[in-house]
Amino acid sequence: MRYIDKKVAGMPATDGAGVKLKRVIGSPALDLIDPFLMLDEFGSDDPQSWIAGFPEHPHRGFETVTIMLEGRVRHADSVGNRGVIEAGDVQWMTAGSGIIHSEMPERADGRLRGFQLWVNLPARLKMTSPRYQDVRASRIGSASNNGATVRVIAGEGFGVKGAAHTLTPVRLLDVAIEANAVFDIEVPDEHACFVYVYDGEVRGTGRDGSRVDIAGGFLAVLMGAGGVRLEAGASGAKLLFADAMPIREPIARYGPFVMNTREEVQKAFEDYSRGELVSA
Ligand code: MN
Repeated sequence: MRYIDKKVAGMPATDGAGVKLKRVIGSPALDLIDPFLMLDEFGSDDPQSWIAGFPEHPHRGFETVTIMLEGRVRHADSVGNRGVIEAGDVQWMTAGSGIIHSEMPERADGRLRGFQLWVNLPARLKMTSPRYQDVRASRIGSASNNGATVRVIAGEGFGVKGAAHTLTPVRLLDVAIEANAVFDIEVPDEHACFVYVYDGEVRGTGRDGSRVDIAGGFLAVLMGAGGVRLEAGASGAKLLFADAMPIREPIARYGPFVMNTREEVQKAFEDYSRGELVSA
């Protein structure tokens, strides 16, 4: 069984045109869970904290995964994709060689809540063609086991295949656990693995066998070998679960570009300023 190696709270951060968010991965407290570069939770009841959104900006070298729980975000990119990501939907975007896009929240009953996860790409895929997968809630299959229900965004969970196609071995599940029920899942030993609890609370086990509580707003890194076993608290729990094969390559990252070397990041800035980030 895996153990909880580290427990980290999301840190307040501001990004885009002034969007207030909680940065969970990609912060001084937790800079990376290879291949996961960043995890943000965004949204609140106060539209002033997010309405300015993320106007046009570039990306190169990795993938962004947007998971909407409430509200909606209007999206448009340089590949010609545009649309609205609604509650329950997921957008899996491969920036690859380069994309320029905008991500603008819209007022929908004044509420917005969701996540953005950045998944790194290995050197051989950093310059792959940009790709956009619009994964509607209705296409995301779910499965239940002993009081735990998983929405399978990518990879495979409880026998159900993920709706999103991935370029690398990545599993992403949106998990709801009933009060006092247990979420139990197998994980390949060589994979990195984390859970981010966004509602309720779960209990797990520390390295020394002690009980560790993970409250809402906390991420736990799960190390060791074998599966993961978490028990929900008295009010149940909702969490993001992810595991993936680490890439184990050098990372040179600056803002919206994530490459292997500083020279490649510099090249991305130059390409962007010359209007050549996006191939014609
Ligand atoms: Mn973006």
